[in-house]
Order: sequence, then C-alpha cells, then structure tokens
Amino acid sequence: MLKGTRAHACLFGSYPEKESKMDYGMIGKIEKSKRYAEERERFQFKNFELTFEGDNNPHRITFEDGLFQCDCEFFMSHQRCGHTMALEILLKDMIPVMVDA
Ligand SMILES: [Zn+2]
Repeated sequence: MLKGTRAHACLFGSYPEKESKMDYGMIGKIEKSKRYAEERERFQFKNFELTFEGDNNPHRITFEDGLFQCDCEFFMSHQRCGHTMALEILLKDMIPVMVDA
C-alpha cells in the first residue's frame, strides 16, 4: 500500500494523516453539504457585491433586495446588462426571478 496521504483519498480528496481521525459528526456534515450543493433552490441570495473582470475594466455589481446594480454604461440605460444577466444564469434558482422593468 502506498505510504502517505494518498491512502486517505476520500470525500473531498486526500486528507493529511493527522486529520484522518475526523469525527463522525463532520463526516455526516460533509455528506450533507454535497447534497445541499445540488439543491440550488435551498440557497436564496439576499445581498451581495462583486467585481466582474471585464475585458477592458472591472465592473462593480451589487444585488440588494432582489435588484441588481451594475456600474457599466449599458446597465444605466437598460437596467440590465451582460454582467447582471450572466449572474442571473449563474445563480439560477438562487435569486428571485427577474421581472422585466
Ligand atoms: Zn454591467
């Protein structure tokens, strides 16, 4: 058998030897987390802020009370833009469905 951490390749990959005595509580949580991660509708984003690395310059996007804001020019005239629409796709089921303004 191989020596080293590879022997513990399980769950999220290989754990260092000293962490192999992880308690059962944590093992159960890890199993649960994998299931939760597939059930997107359980997650409902309320507020967040992020930077989109644009081709020319970064854009600041915020999401508050179900509404996106982007600092790009297109957003100012359309209340929607490629950046926020990409997020709508990314966060499908995890944000309220957008209503056309
Ligand atoms: Zn934008």
